[in-house]
Amino acid sequence: MLGDRDYRQLIKNAIDSIGREIQPKIDPNDIKTIHLHEVVRCLRRSYFDRVEPKDVERRGFTDLVSGLLRNMKYGSKSGEFKMEDISLNGQADMIVDDAVIIFRSANKLPENPIARDLLYLNTCLVIFDKIDGILIYITGDRQEASFSLSRNKKMFQEVARRIRILNNLLKEKKVPILEPSDECSNCQYYEKCYLPQKTSQTISLTELVGIRQN
Ligand code: SF4
Repeated sequence: MLGDRDYRQLIKNAIDSIGREIQPKIDPNDIKTIHLHEVVRCLRRSYFDRVEPKDVERRGFTDLVSGLLRNMKYGSKSGEFKMEDISLNGQADMIVDDAVIIFRSANKLPENPIARDLLYLNTCLVIFDKIDGILIYITGDRQEASFSLSRNKKMFQEVARRIRILNNLLKEKKVPILEPSDECSNCQYYEKCYLPQKTSQTISLTELVGIRQN
């Protein structure tokens, strides 16, 4: 706190509003259009984001790297892949020399690429009909690690399966099952999933006696 201003809050508000501005725009009612980021992460979270959304809490500017790159159009590209009556929309952060590049922010550099990021990159390779891709992790203290990937058919089949599941559950208005993972600890729906509200009902002593006598 400096003077009368709470600068921490000011920064948080700036991060939140930039985050809102750059996040992929989804029409929640258009269930025939599925966005790639929705199916590589927890399907339950993506379902809630469409049906009863709650703002996500962003931790810092590094969380915005990928979104900012996409919005600056510095080599980023949007694409679509048709799966029968469903359109899958995906966006590559950059396409350079025929390789798809995806950036992800990280608190510390991972030893191995995170599964959902691999699925995202691999699906971009399918959408943009490319063979090779690179996944780059960047930390707040400017360290980076990169991993390369060649297009993998089996990995895409898993994404295709999840696209159909999300589409069906949205159609039937059924909440997807829990997908416990490291994603849960930063998820805005954590309480909804793991700390359900108690529906307490007060029963008076007379009511209780009445129940027993019946
Ligand atoms: S808390 Fe976990 S299981 Fe629940 S919606 Fe979030 S990521 Fe999915």
